[in-house]
Amino acid sequence: MAGEPQTDCLFCKIAAGEVPADVLRETETTVAFRDINPQAPTHVLVIPKAHYRDAAALAAAEPALTADILREAGEVAAEEKVVGTGYRIVFNTGSGAGQTVFHAHAHVLGGRGLNWPPG
Ligand code: AMP
Ligand code: ZN
Repeated sequence: MAGEPQTDCLFCKIAAGEVPADVLRETETTVAFRDINPQAPTHVLVIPKAHYRDAAALAAAEPALTADILREAGEVAAEEKVVGTGYRIVFNTGSGAGQTVFHAHAHVLGGRGLNWPPG
């Protein structure tokens, strides 16, 4: 069922505390943790605790939870002190766009120059 934990999902396991992660922030509905393979000095993932395969599925099912993710991304940026220099929120969607974990997550990237358009 939509939003239910998936037994084979890495980020469901992180949300449940079954797989360790470098957690920065946790709310009732979200977890923010450092990416294991950082692409910038600040590279944090913000996930909903509920399982959705990507950001579009999440937004279609739970608009308020989608807003929680974006608000938490902003809180992470503030805590990491990258608001002044700028940061990027990315939702890779589909394997062709580089999505490798099919549990919706926002990448929060900052602390270095960020080119536009991205690769
Ligand atoms: P994506 O490629 O957009 O699906 O993003 C998945 C991200 O999860 C990648 O940037 C990985 O480096 C990151 N990742 C994979 N496993 C872990 C883990 N155990 N803890 C933290 N980040 C992870
Ligand atoms: Zn999941």
